[in-house]
Amino acid sequence: MAKRIARALAACCLFPTLPLSAAELPDYQRNSDWFTDGENRLAAKAEDERGNKTAKNVILFVGDGMGISTLTAARILEGQLRGESGEENNLSFEEFPYSALVKTYNTNQQTPDSAGTMTAIMTGVKTRAGVINIDGDALRADCASSKGRELNTFLELMESRGRSTGVVSTARITHATPAATYARTPERNWEHRAEGDCKDIATQLVEMEAGDGVDVILGGGRRNFIPTGADGERADGRDLTAEWLARYEGEQQAQYLETGSALSAVDIAGTDKLLGLFTSSHMRYEADRKASGADEPGIAEMTDAAIDLLQKNDDGYFLMVESGRIDHAHHAGNAYNALHDTIAFAEAVKTAVEKVDLEETLILVTADHSHVLTIAGYPTRGNPILGKMVTNDGTGAPQAEVAAAGDGLPYTTLSYANGPGHADLGSETDADERYTTAVNSGRKDLSAVDTKAPGFYQEALVPLGSESHAGEDISLHAIGAGSELVQGTLEQNAIFHVMVGATGIPVTAE
Ligand SMILES: [Zn+2]
Repeated sequence: MAKRIARALAACCLFPTLPLSAAELPDYQRNSDWFTDGENRLAAKAEDERGNKTAKNVILFVGDGMGISTLTAARILEGQLRGESGEENNLSFEEFPYSALVKTYNTNQQTPDSAGTMTAIMTGVKTRAGVINIDGDALRADCASSKGRELNTFLELMESRGRSTGVVSTARITHATPAATYARTPERNWEHRAEGDCKDIATQLVEMEAGDGVDVILGGGRRNFIPTGADGERADGRDLTAEWLARYEGEQQAQYLETGSALSAVDIAGTDKLLGLFTSSHMRYEADRKASGADEPGIAEMTDAAIDLLQKNDDGYFLMVESGRIDHAHHAGNAYNALHDTIAFAEAVKTAVEKVDLEETLILVTADHSHVLTIAGYPTRGNPILGKMVTNDGTGAPQAEVAAAGDGLPYTTLSYANGPGHADLGSETDADERYTTAVNSGRKDLSAVDTKAPGFYQEALVPLGSESHAGEDISLHAIGAGSELVQGTLEQNAIFHVMVGATGIPVTAE
């Protein structure tokens, strides 16, 4: 393809004489940075021959709730944090050579939830919202109806064929997305207890039957593994961290840890199994983690440690890394944390890209579903993405005044179609709290509000206690061995086949 482009360009400009005809491109066009940048990127993609190789390893990154508007806003913020205009920046994985759009609906919902969507990715089968790795014939929270409808996951296929496996999340490790890599349950909320003869999700993780269980488990949600008396949630009195250690005693070197400093001190060479549960519930938002100085690893550090351990297996590995709290920040109507967690997620992807051999490793980056975040108005180039609308005067210079909407009030570039921001501007409200009281307060005067502050809740049109997921497609980005399978518009369940196709792992008995 690179040659074809070069030939076309050469043919077009043999006689670059004035006056210009419509059949040629003038020098200032061909020499434009936009022009040569686009040309170089396409040429580089054409030369990437890793896309059709067989993958020994697969790393699946999932940004929970990381819709396309989140990517655009986060890339702008990442550039602006470096002092750039922002729009031209790319998040690390936006430079990958292959991408596709992905349809996310559940079998019973136009706009999906994480349980049904991650089931589609991990098993190749779509199901109902709230249901994890049970097919759509079962009913949510109905244990009896789930029997005989259980689905096996790509992680289990890899684990049972001697590959190493890992699960990393900034949410509770028993939350819907990570749970869908290893558990089967008709109710995503059965994290530490279940009904009927169904097993809770935490128990399924430590008792996993495929192979010898997940090799690296790093995330939050310790409370679901320990008894109520020990600050845990388990009414059955079991300490699953102790049971997990006992499972491997005398056979493999297993390490359980609870802090970031313990993780960075782990002797990877002398460790076969690693369980890190760093917080009682979800881990902190990245901005809070940094500001608090908590002894808690970031998502890039967890990714780094997981790959170090998994790479010890010469037969290959599967690792899933979830940024779970992009979704939570959006539900709160808070773009600040959603964008900062997306930037941290892109850093974790970069860490992986730099560590692995892409000739034998497939890296996929996707979301499970979108959110109703929107990027609106006509802000001038480089306007702070978390700021108020400032248009430009036509020469490119920003107007001196913040733009007013039809009601005379300023507005922000980022807003939500629904959520708590209809009435509540969060902790950055003005002193008389006039913004946080009325349920139907609608539009507010933001003149005195710092919309770039961490605790600002973007305005929302429709009042909902929790901002909702969105139903439009999300993106899938791919690099490395097998990545060329990622093209076009895919059903979410096809991502399973991308991983199977790239690795050639059998889905039937060998
Ligand atoms: Zn959600």
